Amino acid sequence: MQTVPEYFGSLVFDDRVMKATLSADVYCSLKKTIDEGAELNIGVANAVATAMKDWAVAHGATHYTHWFQPMTGITAEKHDSFIAPSPDGGVIMEFSGKELIKGEPDASSFPSGGLRATFEARGYTAWDPTSYAFIKGNTLCIPTAFCSYGGEALDKKTPLLRSMEALSKQAIRILKLFGNDSVKCVRTSVGPEQEYFLIDKDMYEKRRDIRFTGRTLFGAKPPKGQEMEDHYFGVIKPRVEAYMKDLNEELWKLGILAKTEHNEVAPAQHELAPIYSTTNIATDHNQLTMEIMQKVASKHGLVCLLHEKPFAGVNGSGKHNNWSIATDTGVNLLSPGETPYENAQFLLFLCAVIKAVDDYQDLLRISVATAGNDHRLGANEAPPAVVSIFLGDELNAVIEAIEKDVAYNGSTKTKMKLGVDVLPKFNRDNTDRNRTSPFAFTGNKFEFRMLGSSNSIACANIMLNSAVAESLKIYADRLENAEDFETSLHEMIRKTIKDHKHIIFNGNGYDDSWIKAATEERGLLNYRTTPDALPHLLDQKNVKMLVDQHIFSEAELKSRYEITLDNYVKTVVIEAETMVNMARTEIAPAIERYSADLAKAAAAKKAVCDSIPCTYEKELVKQLSEYTDIIAAKSAELQDALAAVAACTTVGEQADTVRDILLVKMDELRAPCDAAETVTSKEYWPFPTYGDLLFGVR
Ligand code: ADP
Ligand code: MG
Repeated sequence: MQTVPEYFGSLVFDDRVMKATLSADVYCSLKKTIDEGAELNIGVANAVATAMKDWAVAHGATHYTHWFQPMTGITAEKHDSFIAPSPDGGVIMEFSGKELIKGEPDASSFPSGGLRATFEARGYTAWDPTSYAFIKGNTLCIPTAFCSYGGEALDKKTPLLRSMEALSKQAIRILKLFGNDSVKCVRTSVGPEQEYFLIDKDMYEKRRDIRFTGRTLFGAKPPKGQEMEDHYFGVIKPRVEAYMKDLNEELWKLGILAKTEHNEVAPAQHELAPIYSTTNIATDHNQLTMEIMQKVASKHGLVCLLHEKPFAGVNGSGKHNNWSIATDTGVNLLSPGETPYENAQFLLFLCAVIKAVDDYQDLLRISVATAGNDHRLGANEAPPAVVSIFLGDELNAVIEAIEKDVAYNGSTKTKMKLGVDVLPKFNRDNTDRNRTSPFAFTGNKFEFRMLGSSNSIACANIMLNSAVAESLKIYADRLENAEDFETSLHEMIRKTIKDHKHIIFNGNGYDDSWIKAATEERGLLNYRTTPDALPHLLDQKNVKMLVDQHIFSEAELKSRYEITLDNYVKTVVIEAETMVNMARTEIAPAIERYSADLAKAAAAKKAVCDSIPCTYEKELVKQLSEYTDIIAAKSAELQDALAAVAACTTVGEQADTVRDILLVKMDELRAPCDAAETVTSKEYWPFPTYGDLLFGVR
């Protein structure tokens, strides 16, 4: 049996394989492209394509695909085989540089949010050499960006790469001011912690709601939920352990640094965290991880649910986006340094993040807005929909000292006039980890915790990188023209703290009093739902920032607004349709069958002895009959609400109708169904219950 180091990355065309299979010249040119973005000539592309194909074929691949991330949120691939006919009637395996660099899938069936109307239907995919090619099944997957012929981004990778470039450019300007001329590139890194549920596949097959929508739309609260808090970090059950072992092996073969796994708070809920990597690669790897999680589950007779809220009443699933900025020389810019100079630089980057998060609260909220995530944000489990920053007591004291222009902790004032001599080491305090904060400083990185479990991390990082790039740009513009660098720096840091301290909150984010204080006293934004948040994507300040930083064109932003809302509407409409269908064809008939049998039982008893009152049967039949009447009425109302959504003329109007009417009617239909479940004999209930689903995997 191979050891992990022996098979790690065995399905990846990584640096080791490149070195071994490419000539020295070709390898050097390719490295230049990967590291510095240098243009790739066709000769090199041909050589790389041939090496890639030979390597892939030797590993059993027969096809290749340009693997990309359209705005559906999942990944897309169209497989072409390597075969080409040879004159003798056989085939040879062929793959050219041209095919490696560019593909032309028909773009017309991918969401384009109106871009298609104004531009050509065709799109093209372009190789992203910064992310390694890999083999999945029998296919060589080539990570690519996906654009329209007019050059508009139709995917999530293109703007992500643009945002990384924007941040790098501005950060380098700042570093130069601090005398750091050797840095060529600044990169953001991300370690996404991924939560998920595992349920039994046979049970899954019996629930149309989970099959069609990824979540339960019905289900009474089980006698036991998560109240004992006995699942978190608990002993992993054998079936789950076997799953995790298999999953790790698959991920490791793909060069994904799966590192930590444990049970989460809710029963049947688990988490997987990789070691962090460059944002672009972390994004590709997280998409792959989600896909492999589902595939491996199936092999184990399980289903992996990535939905944000598969079960009402128990915690939903999120994704923590651990984010930091580092230079190509290996310096983490969010790590406090040893000298006052390094500390000043750290404080400036810290301020850039604080300013960015405050100025673009709305964009961060928008970046995680989906129908699924609306169930979490604002409930008592995930961070609230209000964005705020947690700094922790120590760093907060430093910030306060700077604002008041007093020395921190008795240290004497320094040359840098920052009130800070040597910064304390910000060890993350495990006892005081504020899990309720949407955006927490955790020692040398920030943890953005609002992402939903099924979100692509691209969206959040596009906004985060762009907003921070904007802060840095403003700082660099000022500092480059400052008469006295140190005085300006000091003033700017102080001003940032003064202007933006209202976004800093170190208390309990789940507290209702916080939401009140945040919105009423501090004036922070609280966009509770996707339709509340999305229109602000097109606010002038947001458009200006994103266009100026070359992240999105105005047309691209409009298209993203349309696509996101359209996705919200479609998601909830499918849920509502599924509910009407299940209520009418499964739940009501089951209750009727049970009632009929109760009535029969009562009649049989009466036949034996006329004086038996049959109170139990009578009361229950009456109660069940009331439920079926309500279910029938509420199903009809939900159907009407669906018609109201369909009658709206714009996607904005549709989304508002979904939020204000459809979701309300869905709750109203669910209530009598769940109530009926609690008084209906289990053998009549048409599908597995919450208890079965949550405790069914051993
Ligand atoms: P937890 O938050 O669950 O206690 P950790 O803080 O150890 O766990 O790590 C969570 C994630 O943060 C991991 O994916 C880890 O690789 C990532 N991480 C650690 N350091 C950094 C960093 N400097 N930049 C980005 N991500 C990081
Ligand atoms: Mg964490």
